[in-house]
Amino acid sequence: MVTARGYAAQTARSPLKPFSFSRRDVGPDDVLIRIEYCGICHSDVHQTRDEWGGAIFPMVPGHEIIGTAVQIGRDVTVIRQGQRVGVGCIVDSCRTCDQCRKGLEQYCDGPLVFTYNSVEKDGKTPTYGGYSDHVVVDQRYVLRIPHGMPSERAAPLLCAGITTYSPLRHWGVGKGQRLGVVGLGGLGHMAVKIGAALGAEVTVFSRSAGKEEDAARLGAASFQVASDKKAMAALARKFDAILDTVSASHDYGMYLDSLKTDGTFILVGAPEHPLSVGAFHLLNQRRRLVGSNIGGIHETQEMLDFCAERDCLADVEVIPIQQVNEAYERMLRSDVRYRFVIDMNSLR
Ligand code: NAP
Ligand code: ZN
Ligand code: ZN
Repeated sequence: MVTARGYAAQTARSPLKPFSFSRRDVGPDDVLIRIEYCGICHSDVHQTRDEWGGAIFPMVPGHEIIGTAVQIGRDVTVIRQGQRVGVGCIVDSCRTCDQCRKGLEQYCDGPLVFTYNSVEKDGKTPTYGGYSDHVVVDQRYVLRIPHGMPSERAAPLLCAGITTYSPLRHWGVGKGQRLGVVGLGGLGHMAVKIGAALGAEVTVFSRSAGKEEDAARLGAASFQVASDKKAMAALARKFDAILDTVSASHDYGMYLDSLKTDGTFILVGAPEHPLSVGAFHLLNQRRRLVGSNIGGIHETQEMLDFCAERDCLADVEVIPIQQVNEAYERMLRSDVRYRFVIDMNSLR
């Protein structure tokens, strides 16, 4: 067993605090990773506060992990000792179902093992995430980080990057198309960068007027304050696709109305409460409402290579782990430009 130190929530109502626990021994296919950085995703807040139900406590969150492979099992072939590596939201899956065979592990028939708030394939051992000093992961779920990417700016790609890249690719968003991105947070700012890199003309929809300049710098062609009803009405039937990254339920109809005929509304935000959508926003113009959940391992590697080549790196604020609870509160107030990343040296 490897003794790990990290930060955990003990209940849905308690702040994160120091926590020691055990990692499994390094098996033949395992990689022991010394964690250098871990991004803070809004999903960490939803889960530590049990907003999605079924939370497992104590919970060590974190699924945007970058570190160094410090020990490798005897059958590990794809990772070298000393190599810089990443781990995202998935650390194991059944490996045999149709989805796993197609590289869609995120839609595995099960068992699917998430990096934290999940159980290993033995059905009982809880998984603990990246707000910790070490993690042990099977080589099949370990990503290679391209040279030249600063680690702290690459960490958020492991969730925010792949969650936006995967649906944009799946729905063929690119040149000659207009893409709307709703919510300029961790996912949203990566969606702007990746959408622009794919060749789409990107418009940001935000509640925060103060983010307009940033949106342009990130690659957006235009910016729209969502509360301006008149301006929103003028955008009716203008967009090919809308990617919604908002963490709370809100008015979806006005965004659906801004889609062209056969336009696609892609939901990636995961609010605590159910959405409500008027039928005619969809019936009119034969629009479709689709969802998307992170991305598979192969596609995550593809995204990392794409982002390295196109310089799509996260804008980050690096913090010591002692500030994690404050960072949660600031993220809830949209006061982050645009991802908090924990420097795990602060734990050592
Ligand atoms: P985030 O950094 O907090 O960004 C969310 C943004 O949404 C905020 O910056 C804000 O942007 C906007 N927003 C927040 N509350 C709002 C409200 N009440 N009404 C309207 N807009 C609001 O969060 P994130 O890490 O990007 O995650 C966003 C959501 O995606 C979360 O629900 C998360 O759990 C989910 N998620 C899903 C997947 C997946 O696989 N589908 C993966 C990762 C995360 P403005 O200031 O610009 O308005
Ligand atoms: Zn995430
Ligand atoms: Zn499977």
